[in-house]
Amino acid sequence: MAVTLETPLAKVLGPKTATGMADSLGLHTVRHLLRHYPRRYARRGEMARLDDLQAGDRVTVLAQVRTVSSRPMRQRRGTITEVTVGDGASTMKLVFFTRQHARLAPGAWGMFAGTVGTYQGKLQFTHPDMHLLSGEDADDDDWARELVPIYPASKDVSSWVIQKSVKLLLGGSGNLGDLVTDPLPEEIRTRHGLLSLPAALLDIHRPTTSEDVARAGRRLKWDEALTLQLTLAARRRAAALEPGTARPRKAGGLLDAVDAALPFELTEGQQEVGEELAAELDRDQPMHRLLQGEVGSGKTVVALRAMAQVVDAGGQAALLAPTEVLAAQHVRGIRALLGPLGRAGEIDGDPAGTRVTLLTGSLKAAARREARAEVAEGRAGIVVGTHALLQEGVDFADLGLVVVDEQHRFGVEQRDALRAKGNRPPHVLVMTATPIPRTVAMTVYGDLEISTLRQLPSGRGGVSSSVVPVTEKPGWLDRAWERLREEVAAGRQAYVVCPRIGDVPGADDAPEDADGAPPEEEGRSDRRPPLAVLDVAEALRAGPLAGLRLDVLHGRMTPEEKDGVMRAFAAGETQVLVATTVVEVGVDVPNATVMVVMDADRFGVSQLHQLRGRVARGKHAGLCLLVTEAPSASPTGERLASVAATSDGFELARLDLETRREGDVLGAAQSGKRSGIRMLSLLEDEDLIAEARTEATALLSSDRGLADHPGLAQEVAALASDERAEWLEKA
Ligand code: ADP
Ligand code: MG
Repeated sequence: MAVTLETPLAKVLGPKTATGMADSLGLHTVRHLLRHYPRRYARRGEMARLDDLQAGDRVTVLAQVRTVSSRPMRQRRGTITEVTVGDGASTMKLVFFTRQHARLAPGAWGMFAGTVGTYQGKLQFTHPDMHLLSGEDADDDDWARELVPIYPASKDVSSWVIQKSVKLLLGGSGNLGDLVTDPLPEEIRTRHGLLSLPAALLDIHRPTTSEDVARAGRRLKWDEALTLQLTLAARRRAAALEPGTARPRKAGGLLDAVDAALPFELTEGQQEVGEELAAELDRDQPMHRLLQGEVGSGKTVVALRAMAQVVDAGGQAALLAPTEVLAAQHVRGIRALLGPLGRAGEIDGDPAGTRVTLLTGSLKAAARREARAEVAEGRAGIVVGTHALLQEGVDFADLGLVVVDEQHRFGVEQRDALRAKGNRPPHVLVMTATPIPRTVAMTVYGDLEISTLRQLPSGRGGVSSSVVPVTEKPGWLDRAWERLREEVAAGRQAYVVCPRIGDVPGADDAPEDADGAPPEEEGRSDRRPPLAVLDVAEALRAGPLAGLRLDVLHGRMTPEEKDGVMRAFAAGETQVLVATTVVEVGVDVPNATVMVVMDADRFGVSQLHQLRGRVARGKHAGLCLLVTEAPSASPTGERLASVAATSDGFELARLDLETRREGDVLGAAQSGKRSGIRMLSLLEDEDLIAEARTEATALLSSDRGLADHPGLAQEVAALASDERAEWLEKA
């Protein structure tokens, strides 16, 4: 049988190994296995890896046996064997509750895999899996190598089983050329000084020197970057060929009314982006644009003006918001701005105007029917809603523009689901307040054109932020509540944000929203539960904030309750709002000037930045206090200090990228699709990604269907099918 990249692993490996690889590592084909790269390389004698281990890690280490001792167990029958292994720098203990392993003699080198535990304060492996590199069953060839690849492994498939399987496929250096044809055109390879694919695969799996690894890595990164960029470029190209409907700007309509009613001057940035959008809406190719802008930069009004232009041209515009609170706020704001023009058909409405319709999951049946009818008959020019907008049964008379607010909360599928509701592909504007680093823009959002609002409206007071480390400075928390009281006394309002809701009878108490939260730190599972809105509100009412008008807001309240609370807060009736991250995105109450974030270490960098964006949206200066028990000198403390030190969302986005894994970033934005990115680093490979983007665009403009580059076409297809497979698994 001729083995190809698409050959299932079950045909070339033992059934147990193949099943283990498929089930625990998602490796199904020869291609998958060859692209399953070592996580790192162990080097005999000069590793200090044992030092880096932490309890709870599941790892593979390469080490030499130092001492072996067996003794009978005290409590029960049997023998306990303790083996000390070292890697040159430090030692670690292995414990076996069995008779000594005959070949485990001092001097033997081996790989040991298991979950790191602790016993009496020292790290140890209990019953590790092992593979001896010297002695009878050792493979001479493997033993002789200086760099031993350590693969991402699982409980069922160890690193050395992967190593052996890969070796089988590589079959010495001879066969690989037959198995793998290089998809990269020679000319690109030469231009960028890249290894051939067979050479790179050989070097990444069985390197001799670390230079081998570096060169191979660069080449393999190119594959990922180019495949991704080709996919995105093809998507952009397909989008550009779609027939859309031009929605030209008309004078004397809704847009002019909006402009006349605005209580402020547009910033330069808003004007520029506005022109850009107006021109694009006027084309009969659908717009696909991302509007990114700092929190509070005024994206909503830019979107509203685009929506108004589309309504003036006879179409409908839909605004998709991530939460009911936000959808309701958008509707309130738009209705207020449009006045009678937003109430066409009502008694005091202007018949020349339109209707602004809210469509959310919580509408009662009759109201929902009415809203859907307004949408279907075209009476509603502007439709604002949550996920409910995406449902079947929501049909538009003539959908001309889709606006997705806070895109990072939605996946590509949702964007597409709404798009599909147009008779012809509508224009699409997605907005994100999380500024995104350039690499993410070129990858996750690579199929969109990008506009940026960097400037904040002038006259903003700005927010100053401080960390309140309560373990080190217990007095600072009292001072924080005093500051809050001072602001309230001056007529301002405040938020207190907590990571958890608390005990609502009959509801389980998951965190409100794990999105963007930092990874749990190793060995800290013994932490106390996060502070809860309900508890904190009670304590504040009874203590430091007694006498203030205080209310709570969280995701377990009914939409009516939430709406009522938001209205009262927006109207200034409530002075202090104790809330979960439901206030994170978009909430706009300009009179709020203080935000106290409790257990701030439980939130991600971008999340904190978003939260902070809720204050100082008007002319008053704002204050954001990040309360934490984390020591200032810890990584967490330092992360919070950086958030406090900078208000530059772009810099923070980069920091966020550093503290989260790439997969999380891509995963969140692409809703979990396999991105085909294993080696490429969004943080480090900006230049490479940019070069690949240029090459991809050039390739597609000369060879549209990639007919002359079958290898590349295959890579692109493989990426697409991986994405689909992932999708199916999720469904
Ligand atoms: P974001 O970009 O975070 O979504 P918003 O669109 O909610 O920000 O705008 C934040 C606040 O700034 C709102 O209260 C809005 O009315 C106000 N705003 C928007 N543009 C301007 C401007 N050009 N001048 C003054 N205030 C503005
Ligand atoms: Mg917004």
